[in-house]
Amino acid sequence: YRCLRLILGDQLNLSHSWFNQVDDDTLYVIAELPQEMDYASHHIQKIQAFFLAMANTADALSASGHSVLHLTLDDTSCYANLPDLIQHLIVRFDCQRFEYQQPDEFRLHQQLALLCQQLAIETVCADTEHFIVPHDQISLYFCQEKSGRLETFYRKLRKKHAILMTEEGQPEGGKWNFDKANRDKLKPSDIAELPEPLIFDNDIAEINLRLQRHQVKSIGISRDKLIWPVTRAQSLQLLDFFCTHCLPNFGRFQDAMTCQADDLLCNKQWSLYHSRLSFALNSKILNPLEVIECAIAHYRANEAINIAQIEGFVRQILGWREFVRGIYWTHMPGYAAQNHLNARQALPSWFWSGKTRMNCLHHAITQSLEYGYAHHIQRLMVTGNFCLIAGIDPAEVDAWYLGIYVDAIEWVEMPNTRGMSQYADGGIVGSKAYAASGNYINKMSDYCQHCHYQVKEKTTENACPLNSLYWHFMTHHREQFERNPRVGMVYRNWDNQPDENQQAVLQRAKQLLIDIELL
Ligand code: FAD
Ligand code: SF4
Repeated sequence: YRCLRLILGDQLNLSHSWFNQVDDDTLYVIAELPQEMDYASHHIQKIQAFFLAMANTADALSASGHSVLHLTLDDTSCYANLPDLIQHLIVRFDCQRFEYQQPDEFRLHQQLALLCQQLAIETVCADTEHFIVPHDQISLYFCQEKSGRLETFYRKLRKKHAILMTEEGQPEGGKWNFDKANRDKLKPSDIAELPEPLIFDNDIAEINLRLQRHQVKSIGISRDKLIWPVTRAQSLQLLDFFCTHCLPNFGRFQDAMTCQADDLLCNKQWSLYHSRLSFALNSKILNPLEVIECAIAHYRANEAINIAQIEGFVRQILGWREFVRGIYWTHMPGYAAQNHLNARQALPSWFWSGKTRMNCLHHAITQSLEYGYAHHIQRLMVTGNFCLIAGIDPAEVDAWYLGIYVDAIEWVEMPNTRGMSQYADGGIVGSKAYAASGNYINKMSDYCQHCHYQVKEKTTENACPLNSLYWHFMTHHREQFERNPRVGMVYRNWDNQPDENQQAVLQRAKQLLIDIELL
């Protein structure tokens, strides 16, 4: 073969222009790699999903006539790392050119850039042709000194791509943002209406044996079958299911949480009206613009989907997803070490088991271990909020998030975790820290009704731990947040409290931090 082309595990885009023509001189390589197994403690379902999706992509490309080398851990375990494997393949197949697609992760970007410097043959790095903003245009929207906010970026992309815009150049529905219409809690009658999630029955027996053979360490629970979409057809089926059954209520219940829909036959609470498309998107099986276009086509055809629902969904993909990627590439590698609030506490061990009496955390963590999935508000306002107000070291928080979710890849995980949720970047991603007391959880969920702790209490023995931890965090970082117009007023509430009440709250928080393993 004259040319060796590398397809990384999260580059499963069958529509890439690489595949427009069959070229007998080109060999594609898709490889399971030991180095990708141990840079984080991955959820077992995440490994299964990537390995199955890679095998299916290899099959699909072979079926269209391309020459594909699909290597499993059995074939690659003898190579030290990815560059070692590539060097071996170049010699073995006598290749005169090596091509790869721009990795989305800084670690792999560096590794492959270094390899190319060392290779004596021609090398080419191609765009992945996945994101709405091509890699070489990120610097047109972001710079290190001033990253800008999501809202400005999102509006620019809406205009540029004429998405949900009128002919006069105005946002459809007369507003850019319908967030305020998207804040409903689920009532018992709403819970009864929740759609049963579409899940798949993918066979994982062979992969499990391979993982055992190579003693791959993982976290989380392996189910009998893999429920995540791992082919193009399954991903499109999930997209259609979402647009038909979930999009009409997507925005409305986007922030809601419940533990009430569990029953033995059907477990609906974990996905609610969320799309669960993040794995199909992040592995690049689905393209973000195609997802947006499909959702808008359903919005145009179905009166039950109003503008607040579709705008809320488009904002997540056109806005947030592209925005955090821009932040990542603009601020790496320094971003990975940021700890603006100097948080040093160790992550409690119950994050790996779910064994805590705090029902909100128990629920979000157990669900994450069971499905490799939690929706955005569970990630941000339950697990993320606890880590923020308890002052957990962002490196440990990052490691947890990077391992536990099927969709976790550093470019999207890190700005969300270290940035949006932990404020460790000092406000690059978000303009405020998402800190909350039990009151917020009680407003958006039914978790507190079934909790060992009392959400209305602050200092009693069974008082909700989040209440005192919240004030401990806010007072500790008063200088940082007091002048922020979005949070400044909470300090006036605090200042109106009698001194002895303030001391009791802070004392309780300090004790909880000492006893953090026992919560
Ligand atoms: P939906 O609620 O149906 O949203 C649709 C799509 O919008 C998602 O599939 C996703 O592609 C995109 N999206 C929504 N919010 C975001 C966001 N904040 N950033 C980027 N894309 C977004 N998302 C990941 O894909 N991988 C991660 O590792 C990840 N880690 C996170 C860590 C924390 C602490 C937080 C707060 C959020 C994280 N997110 C991550 C963002 C978001 O929570 C997930 O994308 C979403 O929950 C995936 O579920 P879904 O597909 O059902 O999303
Ligand atoms: Fe969580 Fe506090 Fe509510 Fe318990 S009472 S579920 S700890 S917010």
